Amino acid sequence: MKFSADRMLGRLARWLRLLGYDTLYSNALANDKFLAMADEGRVLLSRNTSLAGKVKPDNFLFIKDNDPKVQLRQVVDLLGLRPDPDNFFTRCTLCNGPLETVQREDVCESVPDYVWTVHDRFSRCRDCGKIYWPGSHLARSRKEIRSLLGV
Ligand SMILES: [Zn+2]
Repeated sequence: MKFSADRMLGRLARWLRLLGYDTLYSNALANDKFLAMADEGRVLLSRNTSLAGKVKPDNFLFIKDNDPKVQLRQVVDLLGLRPDPDNFFTRCTLCNGPLETVQREDVCESVPDYVWTVHDRFSRCRDCGKIYWPGSHLARSRKEIRSLLGV
């Protein structure tokens, strides 16, 4: 299942990307462009009730809560998602691009010295080039996912 999140839902989009779901998000997207994404088979996630009747009901989910974690729970429950740990951390949280494993030697000049010294597994976003490594923020996110979704 693929998603497009409206401008109010940046943090929810980040969570869905962490789980590996293809989720488009821009804080500068006009309503008509946003609605057009339903035609690409995406489920629109929105806090704007006035958009609800403008696409097929299957392609729209009204997000009622303010808290991104409660929002995530809502999306998972209402759409019957089964997040797969094998897909976690496979997508760039900034731009939604897929992450590719890179050789440690190749990122030597792109990450801080202490990071390069301590870590031996790196991946890079194919689209924006951001480099990821399994740091403490990843462990924290993994723990939050587990407590929130039980996976
Ligand atoms: Zn990226």
